[in-house]
Amino acid sequence: MSRPLCITLLFALSAPALASADPTPSLPARFRQAPYSLMSLSIGYPNAGSQVRAKRLRKSAELSIKAGSEPNSYGHPSLVLMLQRTARQVARRAPGSVMLVGDLSSKDGGRLAGHTSHQSGRDADIGFYVTDLKGKRVLLDKFVAFDAAGRASDGSPYLFDDFRNWLLLQALARDDRAGLSHVFVAAKLRKRLLDWAQARPAFRKYVPAVVGILKQPDNALPHDDHFHVRIACPRRGAVRGECVLDPPHSEPRATRFASYVPSPRRSGAPLRALVKPRKERETTR
Ligand SMILES: [Zn+2]
Repeated sequence: MSRPLCITLLFALSAPALASADPTPSLPARFRQAPYSLMSLSIGYPNAGSQVRAKRLRKSAELSIKAGSEPNSYGHPSLVLMLQRTARQVARRAPGSVMLVGDLSSKDGGRLAGHTSHQSGRDADIGFYVTDLKGKRVLLDKFVAFDAAGRASDGSPYLFDDFRNWLLLQALARDDRAGLSHVFVAAKLRKRLLDWAQARPAFRKYVPAVVGILKQPDNALPHDDHFHVRIACPRRGAVRGECVLDPPHSEPRATRFASYVPSPRRSGAPLRALVKPRKERETTR
């Protein structure tokens, strides 16, 4: 055996042993010591990252995990706690509601089948709240796509539940503990939800806050069967977690984050654009 090949083989054999001894061998030394060595760490970007000591999202009376997503229910504690809080808030306003959550990230993060992001524990997919054709609330165990009229795109007997989906967005928009970055959804459903709330005095005051977080990404599928939620790197010490090592490359911006112009009202009152959106530079899916 030639010498270089021998060395390569030796390295290949010893690498897994080293990796299992230290879950963060590629991190600089300071991130392998306390306090970082005791924390959940979101490492790198959502589309080029990983995580260690992630928190596992577990099902509850208000939250279910989509079939097949159980191995990918790990995220930064800020994200996991935000999902639990939000599910409770929706259920408080609409008793019996159960939030359907799909993939977060895998236990150690990194690439996840079917997604570009979801790598560093800061992304989660949430199914829409739905009703049957009579308006009775139903809990599904899958994501269903909806058209602009709020009907299931595949003809299945479900309707988009504007009320509860708005409650979800309102709860997310008002949650200032997790550092929510944005919620992706198809433009047609974004418009539908904002119009729905704009027409109802009890919800209208939250429209500007929701406009500021809700968008359709340019560089991914249009998200017509679920919301994709992302948190920013949480503030230091917020919830036993930290973001480290954002890699020095830029991600494509999601630019189709339009402001919102309400649909014409019967009064003929002039329309005006609401708040300008925050700029983001991250991909989704
Ligand atoms: Zn997603």
